[in-house]
Parts: sequence; C-alpha cells; structure tokens
Amino acid sequence: MSGLESDRNKVNKIIVHISEDGGVSRSEARRTLHKYVCEGKCDWYKTKSKKEGFDRTDLTKRQRRLVEDIIKQVMKDSEIDDAKWRIHNILCPGHPRPRPKRTQI
Ligand SMILES: [Zn+2]
Repeated sequence: MSGLESDRNKVNKIIVHISEDGGVSRSEARRTLHKYVCEGKCDWYKTKSKKEGFDRTDLTKRQRRLVEDIIKQVMKDSEIDDAKWRIHNILCPGHPRPRPKRTQI
C-alpha cells in the first residue's frame, strides 16, 4: 500500500469517527475536518471558500478538540502538524498548503 493510499484510509477513518462522535453526516464531518486542517493557506480557500460558505474559523472549541483527538488516535505515529498537512493533501488535492517547517527536508 502506498503512503498516499494509507493516508486516504486514515482520512476516511477520521471522517467516520467525526461523523459518529459528533452526530453529523459524513459530508459535514469531511467539511469539519477540512476546516480544522486548512489554516486558510490553500488556493481553494483563498479563491472559492467564500462562495461555498466555508468559514474555517467557525469551528467551536469542542469541535476542534474532538477532531484533534481523533487525528491523534488514528495517526499516532505522526506529529500533529505533519498529520494535518497530509490530511489536507487528501481533502484538497491540487491546492497544497505549505508543508510545516519543522518537517521540511
Ligand atoms: Zn484547504
């Protein structure tokens, strides 16, 4: 299994968790996860998010904590910043946000 393929499985797992723990639909869970990892640095966010009513800052503290806990559970072996970057690659392909400095090679 390639790295990207297993990241994709992990992201699916995270979405299912958010959906079940948060009592929201899968698509709402995906949106919540994207808001959490996006940080507003991708092209999609800069150009399209307004039109779609996507506001990454409207997550509650509880939602953030829920998402962060689930990411840490599912992607135990990576730093949270790196995990967020990899999740964003899956959710927003073609619109990469800068990779976190710490893990840059
Ligand atoms: Zn994005």
